[in-house]
Amino acid sequence: MLVVMSSSATDSQVKRVKERIKELGFKAHDIPEQEPTAIGVTGNSKQEERVYLEGLPGVAQVIPISKPYKLASRDMHPHDSIVDVSGVKFGNGNAVIIAGPCAIESEEQTLRISNAVAERGAQMLRGGAFKPRTSPYAFQGLGEKGLEILAKVKTITDLPVVTEVVDPGTAKLAGDYVDMLQIGTRNMQNFTLLKEVGKVGKPVLLKRGMSATLDETLMSAEYLMSNGCHQVVICERGVRTFASHARNTLDVSIIPALKQVSHLPIIIDPSHSSGHRYSVIPHALAGIGAGADGLIIDVHDKPEEALCDGPQAILPDQFSELMCLVVGICNVMGKKIGNQKVLEDANQG
Ligand code: PEP
Ligand code: MN
Repeated sequence: MLVVMSSSATDSQVKRVKERIKELGFKAHDIPEQEPTAIGVTGNSKQEERVYLEGLPGVAQVIPISKPYKLASRDMHPHDSIVDVSGVKFGNGNAVIIAGPCAIESEEQTLRISNAVAERGAQMLRGGAFKPRTSPYAFQGLGEKGLEILAKVKTITDLPVVTEVVDPGTAKLAGDYVDMLQIGTRNMQNFTLLKEVGKVGKPVLLKRGMSATLDETLMSAEYLMSNGCHQVVICERGVRTFASHARNTLDVSIIPALKQVSHLPIIIDPSHSSGHRYSVIPHALAGIGAGADGLIIDVHDKPEEALCDGPQAILPDQFSELMCLVVGICNVMGKKIGNQKVLEDANQG
């Protein structure tokens, strides 16, 4: 349910409504950026409980939410949510560019690539310290050392950092080092992990499971949100189909479908969808053209030496080309993309 307060409701009336929600055995959630004040209610409710809340002073309306996901639903929050990651804003109508290596391999590698993408207009750095690999023999990431490198590189290039968390035990630790936590496709329905990551208090990039429906994806977002994390960005990174010409099949159709039912921003990962350097740019353009709120891209300056996902990493020069093309599409769409200052300086130079 969503309890909408009247525009003249006082703070003490809002407080009383929240107390009543708890007395009835439900959880009350503040809905950010809502005018007039609205309070989300989760838990199994019955018609009588709706009536009890409707009668309280200051309450204008109680709206039942029929979707299985409540906090992630547009019924609960009609306007697009803006997710703020250390000053970088997702969902405000512009498009954010996150770029960096698949895995953190060393301080030198991370610093080189971070500088390369920052100079070309990226707003955030990506890089895995904990890598979920299909093979137990493959490079698993540098762990905490990788987190230390990310934090150090951030002090130099000043790009906020997103990194993946693969187990509940290291969620809090990762949150101490980076600006945004990532849930990978293989863990989208790891509910224990979602609960722990939700409690950390950092924005989360939630990747769609490789065979997850839209509803399942939003139910996973609901796990994060009901555990206190309202700053969720969804990421489409391709799904499993019969097609074998790409690593995954990029499902751009999820972008308008998600925006219809949810207020959360959605970005595209063209690297993990394509799997091949030659098709990363076309996938990225398709995502931006379909209305994505941003991109997350694997970039490596020595992809042949990369310890993870080298074949899909684009070179810094290809990243420049990608930026040029997405800027063109965004101009047509009336959007801004990437780090404006860097891109304007590059244009003048
Ligand atoms: C990644 O972003 O490095 C990654 C492992 O992606 P995904 O979970 O989408 O496969
Ligand atoms: Mn990868």
